[in-house]
Amino acid sequence: MNYDRILIRYGEISTKGRNRHKFVEKLKKSVKLTLASFPNSKIEASRDRMYVLLNGENGTEIIEKLKHIFGIQSFSPAIKVERNVEALKESALEFVRAHYKDGQTFKVTPKRSDKTFELDTDGINRTIGGYLLQNIPGLRVDVKNPDLNLRIEVREDAIYLSCENIPGAGGMPVGSNGKAMLMLSGGIDSPVAGYMAMKRGLEIEAVHFFSPPFTSERSKEKVVDLTKKLGEIYGSTIKLHIVPFTDIQQAIHEQIPENYTMTSTRRMMLRITDRIRMKQEALAIITGESLGQVASQTLESMYTINEVTNTPILRPLITMDKTDIIKIADEIDTLEISNRPFEDCCTIFVPASPKTKPRREKVQYYESFSDFTSLMEEAVQAVETLVITPEDQHSEFDSLF
Ligand code: ATP
Ligand code: MG
Repeated sequence: MNYDRILIRYGEISTKGRNRHKFVEKLKKSVKLTLASFPNSKIEASRDRMYVLLNGENGTEIIEKLKHIFGIQSFSPAIKVERNVEALKESALEFVRAHYKDGQTFKVTPKRSDKTFELDTDGINRTIGGYLLQNIPGLRVDVKNPDLNLRIEVREDAIYLSCENIPGAGGMPVGSNGKAMLMLSGGIDSPVAGYMAMKRGLEIEAVHFFSPPFTSERSKEKVVDLTKKLGEIYGSTIKLHIVPFTDIQQAIHEQIPENYTMTSTRRMMLRITDRIRMKQEALAIITGESLGQVASQTLESMYTINEVTNTPILRPLITMDKTDIIKIADEIDTLEISNRPFEDCCTIFVPASPKTKPRREKVQYYESFSDFTSLMEEAVQAVETLVITPEDQHSEFDSLF
């Protein structure tokens, strides 16, 4: 007997009380987008469960897709059985026979969310367990460490049988916690930061600073590919805002003492990102900063750079070691793209010895000699916004999030 549906258990959604409906809707949307290439599959969602009805689609492929969706705690291939003891006995026997290999042990784990069913959990245990033992020679019970755990869930509409529990990606459905702007460079860190923010339920739009001719089309392509990869993870399009940054970098280079150029560059980037954020109605900015990793990421640097805005800056990697960040980049397949050689707009102008303890008063003073505000305004006006579609998606899904 083959399973005909997949039962999905929610992660932290279930603890969200009043917001639950919104969370379930977002998760449903994620699942729907991810399973777009399985047109016959159908999703049934209730407040504490979701089912993907296979309707003849390939269950193994669908399981692979479900493993990457945020907001899913775990899931199980399952079958639906009529609420009647005889039907339950026969289906349980057929189901266990299909999964059982000679010499294996089993146990029954009953759960009754509907107490009106004629057998209680103990009764289910004894009736079904006994029936299985009678009919499958060699089958043995092991309640501590069984090879096969037959879960029997009695619900109001039907009984569901499952025996495999596959861990999901955890986290919260993308978009369920609002939207933030991801400052995306071509490096290793920022795509990982974006991934972690998405895992926590944030929808993201990416912002990239580009300085032609000092940085080439190839490095822009790299950021487009990184964005595409992030989009694939949750099966949707992501907006990528490309900011022309050459004039500002040159002005900084001419006006600011060399050891403060890095600090000032970061301040300008943050101010521009904040302007775009406001226009796009997002409520936070995400960066790939990790404490102490480079000169611009000391606490003094962050304090001085952060002065230009009071928008929340989310730094998912702030306490992580580089080796752990690289591990995640490898797992989510962004590492290979990040490792392609490219010219970062910041490495071009990188000072020989950037200040590791920049001061607010100093940078304010240095910046006061140029009209950076108009330069920034020009850059904002010239932003190019791309809608990046993952490879296996169609544009009809463009505006779903
Ligand atoms: P990454 O690997 O993400 O580039 P990094 O270790 O190289 O990080 P920095 O170059 O100091 O660190 O950048 C710190 C953060 O500033 C980045 O994680 C990213 O969020 C943002 N950032 C840097 N350069 C750019 C850029 N060209 N466009 C957009 N954001 C940028
Ligand atoms: Mg970088």
